[in-house]
Amino acid sequence: MSVRAGREFLAVPGPTTIPDEVLQAMQRPAMEIYSKPLIALTDSLLRDLGRLFATEGHCYIYIANGHGAWEAALSNVLSRGDKVLALESGKFAVDWGDTAARLGLEVEVLKGDWRHAVHPAEVERRLRQDGGGTIKAILALQIDTSTGVVNDIAAIGQALRAAQHDALLMVDTVASLGCMPFAMDAWGIDVAVAGSQKGLMTPPGLGFVAAGSRARDAHRKAGLRTPYWDWSVRDGDSHYQKYAGTPPMHLMFALRQALDMLFAEGLDNAFRRHQLLAEAVRRAVTVWKKSNVIDFNIIEAAERSDTVTTVLMADGCNPNALREYCDSKCGVVLGRGLGPLNGKAFRIAHMGHVNAPMILGTLGVVETGLRALGVAHGQGGVQAAIEWLSDNVRP
Ligand SMILES: *Cc1c(COP(=O)(O)O)cnc(C)c1O
Repeated sequence: MSVRAGREFLAVPGPTTIPDEVLQAMQRPAMEIYSKPLIALTDSLLRDLGRLFATEGHCYIYIANGHGAWEAALSNVLSRGDKVLALESGKFAVDWGDTAARLGLEVEVLKGDWRHAVHPAEVERRLRQDGGGTIKAILALQIDTSTGVVNDIAAIGQALRAAQHDALLMVDTVASLGCMPFAMDAWGIDVAVAGSQKGLMTPPGLGFVAAGSRARDAHRKAGLRTPYWDWSVRDGDSHYQKYAGTPPMHLMFALRQALDMLFAEGLDNAFRRHQLLAEAVRRAVTVWKKSNVIDFNIIEAAERSDTVTTVLMADGCNPNALREYCDSKCGVVLGRGLGPLNGKAFRIAHMGHVNAPMILGTLGVVETGLRALGVAHGQGGVQAAIEWLSDNVRP
């Protein structure tokens, strides 16, 4: 017997739930690629991406996922043999560094332990040792989706300035843009990267890159430029050049609708909604962990992200059995543990198009699964989430 009839609920950190209005925005015939409405659509998207990144810099839309946006960012500002420093806080910074290595860059990883955020003081210390300025770029993540950590990007920017180092600061916001504050120019970020399918509630397939003035200077002598990713080509006057070919028009209409919804809600409200729902998840996990079987992956409460929570299970417990139960019996899909966390953790996403019933429902299903599988857990996690929301979302 199962109780999974109806729409499956994706509680995975990407792709996330796509609002019906966004799905419907794609239901239209293709259009001529030089038509005025399509050109106006591109202009509006580029303008609003700049607003989301909070930058006066140039934005680029690629037909790509986050991995493509990573490659776009690296190849536009660096040359073969350049050294980059990847700040490890989970799987994704290391993977971005791996992409860099495969492009012919020299990659140094500033080691992290997967249970803490990047320490800005360690970044500063490493940069001070690099008096000759051999490090050309720093790769950092605002939220690492594997560990559930949020890094203090403003403080990392401050660390670069304190060390008086002029490496470019490149930041991945794939799992945070539109869900929490980000201020590219104010924080001294040179290149920012995002994707469509996480906080931005749009189908997978678009990658975004924003470039500040220092990045555009570096671009002029970058040796890794290739025809598809190249900013100079995309800066050209013709609309066709902006996508290095046919525009992904249906995804563009979807993104337009998603951004309209985000701006109608108000960015500050959307950030607050994410905070409130994330805290509801954390309240539940805090109760469940009383059994000493369940725990937060991220040790410091202040370093836990507002878009995804990575939950550890003690040896001998199988998080994939819990995921299987929640999916096959209850229709809720939880994220798996990535890399070394596979078989040790599950992840609850709370990013993008999420609301109270989705989060309370997900927590209720996880608690149902824990009980059905006989996993020891503190009683009353969902109740704690309810108390948090009812105390903080006032009539
Ligand atoms: C999902 C994710 C990526 C990779 O994005 P894809 O679209 O799967 O290529 C990169 N960085 C972060 C932080 C992510 O969450």
